[in-house]
Amino acid sequence: MTPLLYSVKMRSSLGGSHGVGGRHISGAERIVPEDGLEEQVIAMLRRARTHERGRADFIQVKVGEIKEKDIMTCPLIPVYQMDTRTKSEGRKAAKKELLRIGVSKAAVESAFRELESLTDSMRGAIVMDAVTGERLDDRAERGVRCSNMDCEDTALYEARMAEKGLGGDHPREALVLASKVAYGPGTVAELCWSDDPDYVTGYVGSKKFGYGRITVMKDMGDPVGGRVFFVEHGTDVARYDDYMQNQVVLVRMGE
Ligand code: AMP
Repeated sequence: MTPLLYSVKMRSSLGGSHGVGGRHISGAERIVPEDGLEEQVIAMLRRARTHERGRADFIQVKVGEIKEKDIMTCPLIPVYQMDTRTKSEGRKAAKKELLRIGVSKAAVESAFRELESLTDSMRGAIVMDAVTGERLDDRAERGVRCSNMDCEDTALYEARMAEKGLGGDHPREALVLASKVAYGPGTVAELCWSDDPDYVTGYVGSKKFGYGRITVMKDMGDPVGGRVFFVEHGTDVARYDDYMQNQVVLVRMGE
């Protein structure tokens, strides 16, 4: 019998809970077998209380059993790299890559206009028509959140990816998210740079070419990040949003 799987989600803040004055500190989610559940809950509590953004004083941990029939899988998209030295080089490389994937010039320009005019980070991603550049999500600073995904086999992931410098929580979370997004119903491409002030690397993701890591895409110290999901013209946004938020996806390692 396949082991029972559990979703474990954590979010933490400082100075109160989210929405009532608290400042967001960290969030994380994993999908783990029953025998790793307790260890995972402890690891998340620790993460919230030793985070570089501060020591959270409000921590929520949510645990839920996952039904096997609700699980989908998709492959981990392959990683390739574009070496850039400055923000402008990086953004130029990202634009070129998006055009190569098949996003229209109008949509590429619209996406950069949207992201570059943000004064504060959004919580989720902008959804954009990859042909017209029209913004399809209507939730201003929230955007569409991608959730409920993890590696099918984290130990195998770590064993394969550590030597490529892609081991550890942050690279794994970004790659797993980018894989779920790339295999979303209607996704053409994704564009991302982080809101972590010390993390200047970004990426362009797609099912066509994989995870195109761009070494420098913003200035050091810049706390504003963002994501855009480019979708096929005519994509049903409600269905897309539902897949991103609710569909459980386990990401398989390739051969
Ligand atoms: P991060 O890579 O976590 O620094 O996030 C960069 C930006 O991506 C954030 O400012 C959000 O706009 C967006 N983002 C972060 N997490 C998610 C998510 N789970 N789903 C969709 N967008 C996200």
